[in-house]
Amino acid sequence: MRVLKYTMVCLILAGGAARAFAGYTPDFDGGVDVKLAIQAAIESAASAGGLVPEVPGRAEPGQRVWVSIERSAAAALDRELFKSLPLAQNQRIAIYEVDPSELGALADGMHRALRKAPGFFAHDTLEAALEDLKAPPAQPARAYTVDQAQRVAQTLALVKEESIVSVIASLSSYKNRYYRGATGVDSSKWLQRLWGKYAEGRPDISVAPFKHASFPQESVILTMQGAAEPEKVIVIGGHLDSIAGGGDSPAPGADDNASGVAVTNEVIRALVEGGYRPAKTIKFIAFAAEEAGLRGSGEVAAAFKKAGVAVEGMLNLDMVNYKGSAKDIYFVSDNTSADQNAFLGKLIDTYLGYSWGSIKCGYGCSDHASWTKNGYPASLPFESMFNQCNPFIHKATDTLAQTGGRAEHALKFARLAAAYAVELAK
Ligand SMILES: [Zn+2]
Repeated sequence: MRVLKYTMVCLILAGGAARAFAGYTPDFDGGVDVKLAIQAAIESAASAGGLVPEVPGRAEPGQRVWVSIERSAAAALDRELFKSLPLAQNQRIAIYEVDPSELGALADGMHRALRKAPGFFAHDTLEAALEDLKAPPAQPARAYTVDQAQRVAQTLALVKEESIVSVIASLSSYKNRYYRGATGVDSSKWLQRLWGKYAEGRPDISVAPFKHASFPQESVILTMQGAAEPEKVIVIGGHLDSIAGGGDSPAPGADDNASGVAVTNEVIRALVEGGYRPAKTIKFIAFAAEEAGLRGSGEVAAAFKKAGVAVEGMLNLDMVNYKGSAKDIYFVSDNTSADQNAFLGKLIDTYLGYSWGSIKCGYGCSDHASWTKNGYPASLPFESMFNQCNPFIHKATDTLAQTGGRAEHALKFARLAAAYAVELAK
């Protein structure tokens, strides 16, 4: 199985600091000037008589993709997927070029061998992938306060299990929500229509697709414009796509992750029903193509950073309806904001009374990682301990029937997300 393309440049870049090219020596652990590194590698390959790659830029849609992955994970999958050398690496992360058609197999391999999903980032350009070798930018300290008891109580009274069930049922009725497939596109369009209804009679609410150059499924963004400080933004969302092998396989993805989108929808619905107008802007986002390497959230978060959007907090909802462990909610402690996680714990203690703990999730484990690496405070409240999570995910059996047609567990996350919205967007 051909997975990894190989060029002379692979060897040269993988040589890292051992060689100096054209006046620039990339130090992949100390920081890389990406443009210089690429140019130096191209020049060096040319002078060595090796193959010269196209100058990195936006690839033909779907033609090429670069992934960043932990070297230890790549080593564990060595026999199946990583027979060639990485294009670049630091002590922890390696960059490989893979055929886009192999992304599903890679995600599958990670899920089966390492219980990670997806556990890597995929990019349209080598340049974007090389960014993952840099340390994430430092996050400015931020003060969190909990003092909106009345508004939180009013909103929580409007959060309902039935409407969460209804959205999970609708989304999981698609054969799959695969990011390259027709039903993946249809499910995004369906959500755009559903969210479009919230904008009726509310000029401060707008809904827009976020289009991705390399695949047809669109991310969906509902913006609730801030009344006092609209330039400050809170992001709440989860991934829209689902996967179970390939593009033709049934993947209802009821828990992974219709549940997270349904909870996101429920927060919007309750806030709109309560006539709530946030002081800061809230953007609710359903991300495309999470299962293929966090591609939707990666592009959205990078676009926000490039545009200088001041995201004050990101809440990722990914798998929230299967209660596999003793406690109600588990916060992922790695690649997230410790301060924001503590704030979320305080919201639970103050308003909800649920039990909570923390777990580790690993590299590139879900969409919060795309925001963390762009310097934004992000969190992932998860349904269970990792080793006790829903055993049906990424299978045709990830259905609403597995939870008896109920969304009792997801309701807890909807209540938490509603409190988060009210307390952070004040
Ligand atoms: Zn997921």
